[in-house]
Amino acid sequence: MTQDPTDSKPARSGWRTRTLLTHEGIRRSQFGELSEAIFLTQAFAYPSAEAAEARFTGEDPGFIYARYGNPTVAMFEDRLAALEGAEACFATASGMAAVSAAILSQVQAGDRVVASKALFGSCLYILENLLPRYGVETIFVDGADLDAWRAAFKGGARTAFIETPANPTLDLVDIRAVSALAHEAGATLIVDNAFASPIFQHPLRLGADVVVYSATKHIDGQGRVLGGAVLGTTKFIRETLEPFIKHTGGALNPFSAWLLLKSLETLDLRVRAQAEAAALLAEALAGSPKLTKLVYPGRADHPHHAVAKAQMEGGGTMLSVEVADQAAAFRVMNALRIFTISNNLGDAKSIVTHPATTTHQRLTPEKRAELGVSPGLLRLSAGLEDPEDLVEDFQTALKAV
Ligand SMILES: *Cc1c(COP(=O)(O)O)cnc(C)c1O
Repeated sequence: MTQDPTDSKPARSGWRTRTLLTHEGIRRSQFGELSEAIFLTQAFAYPSAEAAEARFTGEDPGFIYARYGNPTVAMFEDRLAALEGAEACFATASGMAAVSAAILSQVQAGDRVVASKALFGSCLYILENLLPRYGVETIFVDGADLDAWRAAFKGGARTAFIETPANPTLDLVDIRAVSALAHEAGATLIVDNAFASPIFQHPLRLGADVVVYSATKHIDGQGRVLGGAVLGTTKFIRETLEPFIKHTGGALNPFSAWLLLKSLETLDLRVRAQAEAAALLAEALAGSPKLTKLVYPGRADHPHHAVAKAQMEGGGTMLSVEVADQAAAFRVMNALRIFTISNNLGDAKSIVTHPATTTHQRLTPEKRAELGVSPGLLRLSAGLEDPEDLVEDFQTALKAV
């Protein structure tokens, strides 16, 4: 938002996570409402012509137009920034509005971007299909291969983009190491933190410059609205990102902002309970003769477990399992009674996804194989149901194989 009145707010109180998730950023109106209000207003009224002028020159730090900022949206931005430990946040209409703005606001024709190749499909579209149309080249590397990152940065880069854990293989990228390499090359590092959530991973503390979220996932966590956020330094958000979003129109609407703001109150409780369920599922299913693979970042047998321990404060809510082939995967999915077949994640309801035929269907079979998206791979998002019921549901369904 423009002229954020919170820029002049005193430093944050040092509250712990759950306290700031229930109180940080609140702006009470003259009515003293207990719960945060929804300001469903596009524009703002000024008491005089002079006041309108002062608002536009920036002398008076207040709201102008909801595409630039809105009190409910600002409450959400401030609360999320406090959780992330970021100086500033700009909330967006969706996760993809956040990703596209974080990248496009930084690059210009002739620039290079380096990215890990295991990315959410729409992020791949931006980097692979869209950027070249505007003269920006993307170099894709295996996110776990630091020599490949080093080589890719040799030619210089404007920015780097990673997702960790990556969808759907849950491969990890070492945020500390890649941010150091990016900075040596004069590039910024953007981390898509949707899978880990702001509860289990703090990329800015690990050296990243910009964090992006799909708030649609864990932050809403109840399958209701789309939303997103970009977080970084005040300088980056106000000078680089804000002009881009303000004028291209990716702002979050106040009603969705209110739902997401209220969701933050329970985020820590929800995500920790979901991660406990994911860990229990992984534990119960590991070693099952029906599975050819089980990947959970919280387990010591994860291929990048050392990186997980160094940068994640928990194993997360997601796990991936592999059965023999697509027919077996479909039989398991159709036999599940609690896990719902969908492509969302981080939800209160546990979800099963078959990436090869849904989220990654657009890719060629060769590309899917390269990314580890095999025909038997299932992505599981643990929800808020009783974890024992989830284990029973999955074990019963596996008998269908
Ligand atoms: C869902 C998702 C996005 C896109 O978010 P939307 O809110 O659907 O626009 C981006 N990155 C990752 C990792 C995601 O899971």
